[in-house]
Amino acid sequence: MHEDLVRWFAQNQRGLPWRAAYDPYHVWVSEVMLQQTQVETALPYYERFLTALPTIQSLADADEQLVLKLWAGLGYYSRARNLQAAAKVVVQNHGGIVPSDYETLRSLPGIGQYMAGAVMSIAFNEPHPIVDGNVRRVLSRIFGWTGENARQLWEAADRLVRLAEPRAINQALMELGATVCSFKSPRCLVCPVNRHCVAFKTGTQDQIPVVKKRPETIRVLLFAVVHHRNGRYLMKQQKGLWEFPMFGELPSGTLVKTGTCRHTITHHRLEVNVYVGKLGDDTGLEWKEFSSVPVSSLTRKIWTTTNKAV
Ligand code: SF4
Repeated sequence: MHEDLVRWFAQNQRGLPWRAAYDPYHVWVSEVMLQQTQVETALPYYERFLTALPTIQSLADADEQLVLKLWAGLGYYSRARNLQAAAKVVVQNHGGIVPSDYETLRSLPGIGQYMAGAVMSIAFNEPHPIVDGNVRRVLSRIFGWTGENARQLWEAADRLVRLAEPRAINQALMELGATVCSFKSPRCLVCPVNRHCVAFKTGTQDQIPVVKKRPETIRVLLFAVVHHRNGRYLMKQQKGLWEFPMFGELPSGTLVKTGTCRHTITHHRLEVNVYVGKLGDDTGLEWKEFSSVPVSSLTRKIWTTTNKAV
């Protein structure tokens, strides 16, 4: 099976920029961005990030506000903060060179089992397994596992990565999951491993992997957008990002509801009521030019809601 996978990958891989030279810094940045984010979405962010911060040294030295601004829209901002914190350690303790041993990598901020395995195998071509959502789906279907657990999956990935070139086999599994063995409509007839796949043989692709439904919670939030004449907004900083003030109940001031928007964060659905107007005396808020500060996609959505209403 590993030979089929590797052959297929050699012929069908997408020409992604970090695959040009497998520079460890580039691979690392790409993997951090691709956690929770699709390749197509991440690509423009990746290009912009590396144009602005082409080396680990430049990332370590950068103002956190710039790093967050480059990340703005990708979400999960702790990824960006950890990436920069890790870059600082790499510059300080490892001469600015990405460590090529697993344990040292794992000791860096934000680097867990998956990320260390990804950098070790993709950048350094060393036999370390990786299991992400795509790999989980592909392996579970191939082996016909409905009650698989994390340990079982990591052990299977570990066995596979030792049978072939680590860089190729790990990326082949991920690529297969992303482009052929999709969640809803796997293209089994063109799949390079269909003759090995239990789910295909038994027609159980739609039952594997088993999806655990998490309860969805809907939270109603109130945000106030206070706009100053010269194009600035009253905002406050939260973990490096700037946002409009949020309230549990309407504060004193002259506020008028201007619209509602919806937003999803992981498994929470948010209903966001947006108000514009003036606020009473507030502390901790600053006038900021919207386009010059890093903001989350929720804050951008709120801003768009008020602009649509004008
Ligand atoms: Fe996925 Fe179908 Fe290939 Fe099995 S045969 S790995 S279910 S695409």
